[in-house]
Amino acid sequence: MSAGAQSRALFAFRRDLRLNDHAGLAAAARAGAVIPVLVIDPAEVRAQRRSPRRAAFYCAAVAALAQSLHERGARLIVRRGATGPVLRGLARETGAATVVWSAAYDAKSVTAERDVQSALEEAGVRVVPVHDAPVVPPEESAAAHRDGDGYRAFVPYHARWKTFTPAVYAAEVRFIDGGAESEPLPQPAEFGSDASCPRPVSEAAAAAAALRYIESAVLTYGVARNVPAAESTSHLSADLAFGTIAARTIVRAVHDRARDPFLLTEEKTSLRLFLRAFAQRDFFLQLAWYTENLGDLPLQPKMREFRFARNHPQLDAWCSGQTGFPLVDAGIRELHATGWMHPRVRSIAASFLCFDLGVDWRVGRAAWDRLLIEDAPALATGNWQWIAGVGADLAAYPRIYNPLKQARRFDPAAAYIRRWIPELALRPDDAILDPYGRRAPRQLGLDLFGPARYPGPILDHEAAARAFLARYGREVGAASA
Ligand SMILES: Cc1cc2nc3c(=O)[nH]c(=O)nc-3n(C[C@H](O)[C@H](O)[C@H](O)COP(=O)(O)OP(=O)(O)OC[C@H]3O[C@@H](n4cnc5c(N)ncnc54)[C@H](O)[C@@H]3O)c2cc1C
Repeated sequence: MSAGAQSRALFAFRRDLRLNDHAGLAAAARAGAVIPVLVIDPAEVRAQRRSPRRAAFYCAAVAALAQSLHERGARLIVRRGATGPVLRGLARETGAATVVWSAAYDAKSVTAERDVQSALEEAGVRVVPVHDAPVVPPEESAAAHRDGDGYRAFVPYHARWKTFTPAVYAAEVRFIDGGAESEPLPQPAEFGSDASCPRPVSEAAAAAAALRYIESAVLTYGVARNVPAAESTSHLSADLAFGTIAARTIVRAVHDRARDPFLLTEEKTSLRLFLRAFAQRDFFLQLAWYTENLGDLPLQPKMREFRFARNHPQLDAWCSGQTGFPLVDAGIRELHATGWMHPRVRSIAASFLCFDLGVDWRVGRAAWDRLLIEDAPALATGNWQWIAGVGADLAAYPRIYNPLKQARRFDPAAAYIRRWIPELALRPDDAILDPYGRRAPRQLGLDLFGPARYPGPILDHEAAARAFLARYGREVGAASA
């Protein structure tokens, strides 16, 4: 028997709730027989408590993982408490010399993991954090970069990212329970949630959904990422966030799909754009990894003194989808109803908060965090900072989306708007798409269809955008001149 087979390693699952194509499990298997562990620590409890749908998804994913382990004759050891002491205790109990986990990327979790690592190492336990979430680990992309501390701009990152071939992790893992007792699996009620999952959640379900998507719908992704009524982006964000599928697995499958010699030009473009979404995901992960010291501070130094408001008289209207800008409201209502929002509409609704209302991106991020199923703080922060013009988007001026033009362009038949705003279902297109127009105020303002009256626009978009840009020019333009 080899030395590796005699020794034992704890593998602590977190946002990697699967068994296949798993960089963390592969590393644990190299250290010996693997004891699979799930620690529900206070930070995990807080994350689950914030969003009832997220808690339901998480509990279902954990239950499916426990079942997969059971089918392999193994047992998931669940413990509740602070991660450091729980892992130290379990290592002692089971005789494990090594603890392995997949790295987190947001500043808070990176710092917490570093503290746990130090405490375990002081107690004589070897710790191996592994990059599992990104397709390309941050150090690998950064190695080729000038200063070795990650990319701040997406375009050169993307050029570099495309040169990597995703690794495959197909290790044989020998699971044991090491004689440790398990506490019960987490249940949504434990996090104050009575939500249920609208679809099956498991590694097998995620793999099947991804394969189905890559077989056909991905070929129209170029349109789908802009046209919310098409409803045909992948909807894989929660699975990716909780790791029921590896981003690597998807990217490899897309590369395989791209070998089809019968693809049309638009279909090839769609595949390239879908891959680009994964490059964006990796970009924001590596950005968070290398800027941990910034915490929640804007990435751009020139924006650190710029004050967005923390509140606004119309903030509730934005949060509840009552701004009178139908595309913004439809997106917010989709989020309330499903725990997900179409990517383009996210940009438009976020821009409206930051620029039309002048409210801090962190307020928006927190509001959506209470509704999203996904729990991907590094991606939320990267995207919110990008939209607010304080992050990695290095455009000279913030890009302010015009929510009415965007609706006319990307939802020209108002199909998405009508789906999520029932008050507008029977109104004519031009009344919906032009709420300042000749027919609209009358049409939208009249209480024609019962108590659910849709509001007129809460502000004048052009005037609000001009006022924001004027202030930006005065305060930031002057500072950076
Ligand atoms: C203001 C704002 C906030 C956002 N907050 C989050 C968030 O909290 N969590 C989150 O996962 N995504 C976030 N995104 C990114 C993106 O909107 C979602 O990943 C996407 O809508 C998920 O839908 P999908 O799975 O159908 O994506 P698809 O379009 O099918 O893309 C496939 C996958 O690629 C990744 N991806 C796509 N676009 C991006 C992007 N811009 N940045 C990073 N990864 C991307 C996601 O993992 C996604 O699941 C945010 C975007 C904006 C503009």
